[in-house]
Amino acid sequence: MSYQPVIGLEIHCELLTDSKVFCSCANDFGGGENTRVCPRCSGMPGTLPLLNQNAVRLAAKAGFAVDCTVNNYSAFDRKNYFYPDLPKAYQITQFEHPICTGGYIDVCTGRRIRINRIHIEEDAGKLVHDDYEGVSMADYNRCGVPLIEIVTEPDFRSAEEVRDFVSMIALRLKYAGVCDARMEQGSLRVDVNISIMPEGSGVFGTRAEIKNLNSLKSITRAIEYEIKRQSEILDGGGKVVQETRRFNDNHGDTKALRSKEEAHDYRYFPEPDIPPVFITDDELEEIKSSMPVPPHIRKARYINEYKLSEDDAQLIISDKEFSDFYDGAVEIYPDYKLTSSIMLVELNRLLNDSGKTAGDLAFSPRKLAELVKMTAEKKVSNNAAKEVLKIMFEHGGSPEQIAEERGFVMSFDENAAEKAVEEVIEENAAAAGEFKNGSDKIFGFLMGQVMRKLGKGANPQIIQRILKEKLGKE
Ligand code: ADP
Ligand code: ZN
Ligand code: MG
Repeated sequence: MSYQPVIGLEIHCELLTDSKVFCSCANDFGGGENTRVCPRCSGMPGTLPLLNQNAVRLAAKAGFAVDCTVNNYSAFDRKNYFYPDLPKAYQITQFEHPICTGGYIDVCTGRRIRINRIHIEEDAGKLVHDDYEGVSMADYNRCGVPLIEIVTEPDFRSAEEVRDFVSMIALRLKYAGVCDARMEQGSLRVDVNISIMPEGSGVFGTRAEIKNLNSLKSITRAIEYEIKRQSEILDGGGKVVQETRRFNDNHGDTKALRSKEEAHDYRYFPEPDIPPVFITDDELEEIKSSMPVPPHIRKARYINEYKLSEDDAQLIISDKEFSDFYDGAVEIYPDYKLTSSIMLVELNRLLNDSGKTAGDLAFSPRKLAELVKMTAEKKVSNNAAKEVLKIMFEHGGSPEQIAEERGFVMSFDENAAEKAVEEVIEENAAAAGEFKNGSDKIFGFLMGQVMRKLGKGANPQIIQRILKEKLGKE
């Protein structure tokens, strides 16, 4: 039988605050074990949590980034469970009154994925199991790291939609400065809830939850494995049980961790040590207006107003600093296509080769705009523009000055061009003869010879015209 998968996500994102959510320990990645802990985040009795206001601000920004309602009132609850990675034996989270509700992202298939809620909570520590020594060790550096959890409705119908959503939400959170969204470092982790139902049915099946996926590839593989596993159960007349499963990257399969019967009773109750959070409309307005234009809005502008291709628009927005640089340059000289092609081809090559990012550039968007203008106005040839860009990339400076000092300014001297063409034809009589018989490749070769003779300021249009005239074509 053929089945329709139904998928909902729970995404945990580490917030980019300087300190942890309820104490002043640093919120960092890496470093030695248990070097960033204090009585509060290690759960000592008698300590009191103090809410990090920047965590609240970033959670609100996350809400705005995905068109949620950010609530004026939210509150914290205790989620009780005992596990050695959580020394307090309860996690502080928002259960009844999350900071954000509603929201959505439209994915590649055109489907709208609704977001149910975003809430703030604290992360737990990490356990390191050493099978050889037969011990488990606890690293509490991650205890109290501020998280948001984004919960979607079960609106996805394919792995492709999930991948698209996760990439888009990661990019939006990066733009908003909420989270660095490094899945491989665990700063963005995805739980996939998945069920299947017979094609055409409207009744959702029983779901399994696959915990803590940390790459787009694992997400796809886990979903594909689950569709197959659940289909085989239903085809065999069995029933899928509601349970939590773990994906094994090496085997490409999922294994049951605990079933619904074994699920914890968390005994949620309001956290008595943290007052509720009130945010006024004015404060919300201020937070919203402090945010940069998000990537999807930029992409739409690039395509609809600037007439860039979808692929080029996507490439530009894939890095915020790159997109900021592009926006800065076209604001000064609005040749959208030429700026995009110089940045996506030449500048990207220089960036890739050097390992730098658009944020490290030695020249400003204004200087790039000047170079684009010189190129558009044919003050320098396309090839010379590449050379000038390379010099700007390495040493900074003004494109106009570089072009003048280094002889890149395009020559309109027809006599010099004619003389060079004549010389080249004379020196390459055989090739010139061959061209008359129709070879385009030879023409390119002869062009190159003339260009070389005339140097950096060579004017390809003039040379091409004269060369054709002299060779008797057109
Ligand atoms: P619970 O209260 O048991 O945690 P939720 O309603 O909060 O359940 O849903 C948790 C996640 O599971 C959400 O991402 C939701 O979209 C998803 N989900 C709910 N029902 C299904 C289903 N039948 N199939 C797939 N995913 C589902
Ligand atoms: Zn601490
Ligand atoms: Mg839930």
